[in-house]
Amino acid sequence: MLTFRRLGEGILDTIFPRHCLLCTARIRERGDTLICEQCWKKIPLIHAPYCPRCGLPFASPAALCASPEHQCASCRHHPPPFEVARAVGRYEGVLRELIHLFKYQRRLRLGKALVALMDQHWGERFPDRQFDYLVPVPLHHRRLREREFNQAQVLAEGLGRLRDIPVLTTLLAKRCWTRSQVELSGQERRENVRDTFILQRAERIHDKSLLLIDDVFTTGATASEAARVLTAGGAARVAVYTVARVVERSHGFRHQ
Ligand SMILES: [Zn+2]
Ligand SMILES: [Zn+2]
Repeated sequence: MLTFRRLGEGILDTIFPRHCLLCTARIRERGDTLICEQCWKKIPLIHAPYCPRCGLPFASPAALCASPEHQCASCRHHPPPFEVARAVGRYEGVLRELIHLFKYQRRLRLGKALVALMDQHWGERFPDRQFDYLVPVPLHHRRLREREFNQAQVLAEGLGRLRDIPVLTTLLAKRCWTRSQVELSGQERRENVRDTFILQRAERIHDKSLLLIDDVFTTGATASEAARVLTAGGAARVAVYTVARVVERSHGFRHQ
């Protein structure tokens, strides 16, 4: 059976050669990967040292010398409502391209690849944490209609299957239309998302440990507002996991 399948794949590859979605190089690996190995290797992964609270990479490893619990200035001055936030990589280069293809060109098969990436880096990012539920950040139904799918839900459902954690897809809903976050400043983003989430059947999360799932952590405004609502609704702990995180050039050092 496996041999026939491999033979089939081999024939298909000859008739319809697969090309990397990012660099168009021919893909020779078996399976249904859409990205070549060289492009996978270029994913700008986030490595320690980073802020133990929000996951912001530090400019220098010396930042952690004073204490491994040393938090970034933003977390020290304005402690976020989530316990920790982690991301697989920086929102730049091939990772940014992958997320764009997934989100705006509806390359749904890429969702599987991004889920695999989040799964692969899970252990390192949440070494001693257990979660009762995964919670995708919701899209407003109008935007959902335009885009036809909620990328956070696709990621949460995929991760939930791999990690055997139930996903609460209807727990959070959006109250009203919020402007797209893309062109807004940090302050505008916080105002834009304030009071936009509604909890549905909150009794489910009483005293539970939740992991919020989204594609990109930009300023943290959306994740913070969702975490605030979930905590106010009775959750014991809320953490955040995204595929990517925006890191300003002035912050952090580049890994090459
Ligand atoms: Zn490639
Ligand atoms: Zn921080």
